[in-house]
Amino acid sequence: MSSSPAAAPLAQLRDGEDARERTALEILSTVFGYDAFRGDQAAIIEQVASGGDAVVLMPTGGGKSLCYQIPSLLREGTGIVVSPLIALMSDQVAALEAVGIRAAYLNSTLEFHEAQAVEQQLLAGELDLLYMAPERLVLPRTQDLLRRATLALFAIDEAHCVSQWGHDFRPDYLGLSVLAEAFPEVPRIALTATATEATHRELTDRLAMQDAKHFVASFDRPNIQYRIEPKSTPRDQLLRLITTEHEGESGIVYCLSRRSVEQTAEALVARGIPALPYHAGLDAAVRQDHQERFLRADGLIIVATIAFGMGIDKPDVRFVAHLDLPKSIEGYYQETGRAGRDGQPSTAWMAYGLGDVVSQRKFIDTGESSELFKRNARSHLDAMLALCETVTCRRVQLLSYFGQEVGYEACGNCDTCLSPPQTWDATVAAQKLLSALIRLDRERGQKFGSGQVIEVLRGRENERSTQSRHHELSVWGIGEELGEKEWRTAIRQLLARGIVEAEGEYGVLIPGPQAGPVLRSEVTVELAVDRTPQRSARGGGRRTAGAARAAESLEPAQRERFEALRAWRTSVAKEKQIPPYMVFSDATLVGIVESRPESVAQLGAVSGVGAKKLAEYGEAVLEALPSAHVD
Ligand code: ADP
Ligand code: ZN
Repeated sequence: MSSSPAAAPLAQLRDGEDARERTALEILSTVFGYDAFRGDQAAIIEQVASGGDAVVLMPTGGGKSLCYQIPSLLREGTGIVVSPLIALMSDQVAALEAVGIRAAYLNSTLEFHEAQAVEQQLLAGELDLLYMAPERLVLPRTQDLLRRATLALFAIDEAHCVSQWGHDFRPDYLGLSVLAEAFPEVPRIALTATATEATHRELTDRLAMQDAKHFVASFDRPNIQYRIEPKSTPRDQLLRLITTEHEGESGIVYCLSRRSVEQTAEALVARGIPALPYHAGLDAAVRQDHQERFLRADGLIIVATIAFGMGIDKPDVRFVAHLDLPKSIEGYYQETGRAGRDGQPSTAWMAYGLGDVVSQRKFIDTGESSELFKRNARSHLDAMLALCETVTCRRVQLLSYFGQEVGYEACGNCDTCLSPPQTWDATVAAQKLLSALIRLDRERGQKFGSGQVIEVLRGRENERSTQSRHHELSVWGIGEELGEKEWRTAIRQLLARGIVEAEGEYGVLIPGPQAGPVLRSEVTVELAVDRTPQRSARGGGRRTAGAARAAESLEPAQRERFEALRAWRTSVAKEKQIPPYMVFSDATLVGIVESRPESVAQLGAVSGVGAKKLAEYGEAVLEALPSAHVD
């Protein structure tokens, strides 16, 4: 929680020279152990360090943290980081302390005297960074405290939470609009991994950041393979994904309801796959425990509702699976973005079906929310459906949703690129379906969900059709050429295109806004044939498990050293009670193995090895490397 004595290397630097003379690049290499900035990082740091405001839109894993951490070190005073996630603050602070930065947090988990100690440190200028939640920041008492301190900057993390249009709205974020007026001389940087233009506009407005410089990075995550397949037996489908492609690896499985979270986690455990549930119905202590175990263990799966994940920066999550349709592309992209932060190949996989569409529409239609909210929710859902049903590249569709042009038509790393779906001319089928809906309504005054409509189209007698004399209708049995499953597939796609709509509490089908041109044969309707689940392009078969992925390129002798380092890392992480990746990332371990350092100085040149970790672990790493001088 507060700075440890081990913060020595940075402190020495600080004493030895004028802090302001240190360049951003020096900090990057001495403190963080990296040798070059990525993307816009340097420009953002320059903007904020020189006292300007910045709005930063960068995908998960893009490297947002350095954009406020380095300016906080460059400027006099403390950087205040506003983050919605109290539960993660202690890990965030621990990660900073691990590289020798003086960081602390102020939140409700602290005892009174602990909070007081942090406040004293702040006032004494002994903190580089201080984390707090927005509700605390806006308290008059906190504002008072901050006025007495020297502030380097305000960093507003997860800034999309201020947007009501978005998917993670937190009312407490609205209070942050006071910062501009209350601290006009303190630069502010707002950061988010949500990229829609609507959210961007709204957060700029609400945080009064009109005069800021805006930095919008590419949202492409090329190492993530996007796949969406039709839902049949979702748990078996998930199991297949895990056992054939991600055995022994870390992953997140998202479900809509608490019940299906519990059941799915149990089903995985019953098959010998380590998995833990996470949802808002669990005790706070249990949730915290499961989250920590997920962060610290190699190869654990967390099955969760969307309550899980914001701010989780575990770098080696190899897959994110959705067993239910997310409510918006924004949500989907954030959730899938939690895979592969380390840049290694990862999978974003989803199973979705007609039932998802109908139940979500029903949820929206029958909810108590305002008409405006419902309209927003419907358009979010429609965009999500369009992504699911696209027959072209998913990545192109995702990026264009975020207003980003891409220079290609097909990415080569999504399911529609890897095996382009077969399409068929479904114009007549769509007309038959629409006619059936119209006849049932006009001649019987009836509206039905997809099940009964399909029975009518296929001419299948049941109690209801007998009672209502459906067999006398001209549309009875006109759709016999398709099976029940094919009709469901077709209806799902027609829903996504607005040719039909599912309405109200029972999800009854009605002609949609795009029905007219279809009925008049002014357009043709091409639909995709549901295909059998698509395997990864990376070979599909079983692959090496867990963290060993990063080491796949290594030769056997190097491999042995990598494993030795991993074992060493595990024991250090256990002893210090921090996640292994906070000691060194897989990529850094591979870097060490490849560069074969023979001295502490050589070790310091490896990417990811900063001054503090070098001082702390240098000797131990050299010892843990078996026979580094031979071979
Ligand atoms: P975000 O907050 O945008 O999701 P992070 O700030 O957590 O991303 O950074 C993701 C990962 O990339 C972290 O492990 C971080 O240390 C690493 N990283 C960030 N910037 C650089 C850089 N310039 N060079 C090498 N690694 C970097
Ligand atoms: Zn593609």
